[in-house]
Amino acid sequence: MTRPGFEAARCIVVKAGSSLLQAGDPVIAAIVSDIVALRALGKRVILVSSGAVALGRTRLNLAPGILSLEQKQAAAATGQPLLIRLWERAFSAHNTITAQALVTLDVTENRRSWLNARATLSTLLDFGAVPIVNENDTIATDELRYGDNDRLAARVAQLIGADLLVLLSDVEALHDADPRLVPGAPVINDIPVIDDRIRLMAGDANASAGVGTGGMRTKILAAELAGSSGCATAVASGFLPSPLMSLGSDQHGTWFHPSRSVVSARERWIAGVVSRNGAVRVDAGAAAALAEGKSLLPVGVLSVEGLFERGETIRILGPDGEALARGVAGYSASDARRIAGCRSEEAESRLGYRRSAALIHADDIVRINAAKDNA
Ligand code: GLU
Repeated sequence: MTRPGFEAARCIVVKAGSSLLQAGDPVIAAIVSDIVALRALGKRVILVSSGAVALGRTRLNLAPGILSLEQKQAAAATGQPLLIRLWERAFSAHNTITAQALVTLDVTENRRSWLNARATLSTLLDFGAVPIVNENDTIATDELRYGDNDRLAARVAQLIGADLLVLLSDVEALHDADPRLVPGAPVINDIPVIDDRIRLMAGDANASAGVGTGGMRTKILAAELAGSSGCATAVASGFLPSPLMSLGSDQHGTWFHPSRSVVSARERWIAGVVSRNGAVRVDAGAAAALAEGKSLLPVGVLSVEGLFERGETIRILGPDGEALARGVAGYSASDARRIAGCRSEEAESRLGYRRSAALIHADDIVRINAAKDNA
């Protein structure tokens, strides 16, 4: 059977894992010729490529074992031009132009940079180039990293409004048990909803080949992130002769359906922001109002957690601490603490100034379980 979602996809983000880059020219040539074929069908394609650290490590002849952060950053600086050269050479053979985009976490977690990055990537696509994205590993610091390119690719898919994210690596599909431990564990080709059962199947974050930082767990997290923006995710082996085009068949790889159909660009951004410590816990009345798509008023707030400024994205928790939503705070944490539990008029007199009656406006809220409401 065919996968209609594959044929219908207009904008595709393809992520290539480190092990593919290490495998060299034939593997890269196969991916490139499929990307060229997809573009010939009128689809827009962005490539997210890992492999800088792995290629740099080999070039620098570093001993096996764990690298320090500085060593990894130096390896990435050495490997990134090699990585681009591999892709550039393969795309040139098809007269296709490539462009390099190195990003750091703030690019997708800060609203202004997000808009800039989106404009640049879509201009490159308009010019007919294939943007090749990687994390700027050489300058990213440990606390401020995507950490793995599955997550980076999901954020790029949200940024550009892609409808398909393809994660190509040595992980060919989701199996119903870890195939390294249970040989012959059956493959699951279609995942309509990512629930706890699926999350449990993912096991550890370790990639089987010992290179890269991905693994099934990061792939499922990426699929959830992309899915919250209406983007499907496919996990497939990058070692096949036609690794992308073969996704047209439902017998190949694992296909995660998106959890939501259409969401606005602003919602996409809010839903994917890396959540910091800030949170508000709300009462049952406010939780019910949120479920109806209403704003969060101070009166419904039981407590305010952490430190945040007005404009930061915070978590909205239910009475028992369950995650309900994320939203852009209309007040700083200290002001929110002063007005928590107050009616709007009283809030105004406590603060000594008047601003929006809502602590978080309905337009700035993305509910976590909106998927189920829409289903
Ligand atoms: N950005 C890293 C690299 O290019 C890869 C991160 C990952 O393995 O997901 O080496």
